[in-house]
Amino acid sequence: GQKEATDMNALTDEYLLLSYHGLRSKDQSFNTELVTDFDPALPEADVVPQDIGRVLLNVFNNAFQAVQERAGRENRDFKPRVTVVTSGTTDAIEIRVTDNGPGIPEQVRHKIFQPFFTTKPTGQGTGLGLSLSYDIVAAHNGKMEVLSPADGPEPGTTFIIKLPLK
Ligand code: ADP
Ligand code: MG
Repeated sequence: GQKEATDMNALTDEYLLLSYHGLRSKDQSFNTELVTDFDPALPEADVVPQDIGRVLLNVFNNAFQAVQERAGRENRDFKPRVTVVTSGTTDAIEIRVTDNGPGIPEQVRHKIFQPFFTTKPTGQGTGLGLSLSYDIVAAHNGKMEVLSPADGPEPGTTFIIKLPLK
């Protein structure tokens, strides 16, 4: 694919709903609340839409899987939630994906971008999603960062994807 000026709010929304509805249709107990805050004045990014779509899908799938995994072993007071925020600066656009899942332990945080690293049961995770995503974002001269605990009021995880402007 070719890089093109892309409306990242539209692309983010498209892949967010793909991930959300895809996972919800396969999981009877899926009850994650979705919160979005899209910057209405977001400038266009210079990206290959399908490639960045794969990155977003990986990060969203991970977030929903993380909160649902935590929901499966907590009491009913736990409300699984995924929050997606877009924002623009003078030289980049940023997509922040925050979940209130179990978080990523310090001992494994440096491994999550390595190919085949997974903590998921056999058959459920290939461990390739974040490795591929990291390479795609790097090929765009962008950046991918992880914060765990998340940057909100609750513990959890935040992934930040930064992409250059058109
Ligand atoms: P996979 O999802 O197939 O396991 P990924 O490359 O997408 O592979 O992720 C690698 C690992 O990083 C996961 O197995 C998990 O341990 C950790 N991880 C990724 N995203 C999250 C998240 N949102 N919350 C907690 N752990 C995460
Ligand atoms: Mg994954």
